[in-house]
Amino acid sequence: MKPINKPNILLIYTGGTIGMVKDADTGALKAFNFKKLIKGIPELKLLDCTIQSISFDQPIDSSNMEVQNWVQMANIIEQHYHNYDGFVVLHGSDTMSYSASALSFMLENLTKPVIFTGSQLPIGDLRTDAKENLITAIQIAALQQKGKPVVQEVCLYFEYKLYRGNRTTKISAEHFNAFISPNFPELVESGVHLNINYDALFSSPKNKTLIVNKNFDTNVLVIKLFPGITRAVLASLLAIPNLKGVVLETYGAGNAPMHNWFIEELELATKKGLHIINVTQCSGGSVMMGTYETSTKLKELGLISGKDITTEAAITKLMYLLGQNVAPTVFKTIFETSLRGEMNE
Ligand code: ASP
Repeated sequence: MKPINKPNILLIYTGGTIGMVKDADTGALKAFNFKKLIKGIPELKLLDCTIQSISFDQPIDSSNMEVQNWVQMANIIEQHYHNYDGFVVLHGSDTMSYSASALSFMLENLTKPVIFTGSQLPIGDLRTDAKENLITAIQIAALQQKGKPVVQEVCLYFEYKLYRGNRTTKISAEHFNAFISPNFPELVESGVHLNINYDALFSSPKNKTLIVNKNFDTNVLVIKLFPGITRAVLASLLAIPNLKGVVLETYGAGNAPMHNWFIEELELATKKGLHIINVTQCSGGSVMMGTYETSTKLKELGLISGKDITTEAAITKLMYLLGQNVAPTVFKTIFETSLRGEMNE
C-alpha cells in the first residue's frame, strides 16, 4: 500500500549504458532488462518516496533514438501524469540533451519534474557513476514544497548537477562530468545538501492543463560551416527535396562568409520558404547578427536568430514548430521567443 504523503515517482527506462551488460561473445555493451537490474540496488528502498518503474519493450542505445521514441516517452508520461508526482527517465547519455530538449517542447504546461539521467558506466560496474545519478535524480524529482513539486520542468541530472534539459550539451565521452549548460546556471547542485537555485527554476503558466505535442517534422538539417565549404556542397544540401528548416551553425557571434555565392544560396533558400536558424558553433555565448560585417547580410536576409540556444534545442524546436504548422509570417517571431526557457530573450 502507498504510504500517505510520500511522493510517487515513476522511473522510465529507455536504455543506455546505465542498464547495459557486456555481451558474452563480443564484449560490447548492450541494453538489458532493467527490472532485474534495479532489484540489485537496495538503496532505492531507503528513499523517502514510492518508486515504480516501466521499461521500453526494447531498451535502446540512445544513438538509435528516433522521434517515435520521444513520442513513446511522452505517451508514458501523459498516461501516468496524474498518478505520479515526478518522472525520472533513464536514458543513454549520447543523445540525452536532444531528448530532454524534445520532451521540453512536447510537454507544454508541465508542472511536474521530468528528470533525465543515465551514466557513463553500467549500474553493475564496481566504479559506476549510475547509483549517485539515479538516487539523486529520484530525490530531486520527489522534492516538494507546500504539496507541490519544487522542480516543474524537463531537466537533466548528471554528476552532482541538475540542469535545465534544453540548455545542456554532452561534452565528454570519458569524464563522469559529461554535460554542461553553457548559457544557463545549474538548477540544483548536490553536495552535502541539495542547493536549489530557486531563481533559475522554470514555471509554466498557472492553471493550464498539460498538452502533449507529438507531431514533429523531421524535414530538417544541421549545417556546420567550415572554412573551405563550397557552393556545390551548400547548394545541394539546401536543395534536398521537402527540406523545410535548417539550423546553420555559424562562427562566433553568428558570423559567416561574405562571398557572393554564399549569400546568393541562402537568399535562394529563404525565398523558397526555408526557415534558417543562425546558431553559433561556440559552446558559450550568443548570436548577435549585425555586430560584425560578416553577419549583417544574414540579418538582412531575415535569418532567424538562435540567440544562445544549443544546437540540440534548436533542431528539436525547429521540428516542433514545423510540426505545429506555425504560419511562415510568425515563424521567426515564435522561434526567437523562449518557449520553455531554452534561450535568453
Ligand atoms: N551509447 C550509450 C547511449 O547513449 C552511452 C551512454 O549511455 O552513456 O545509449
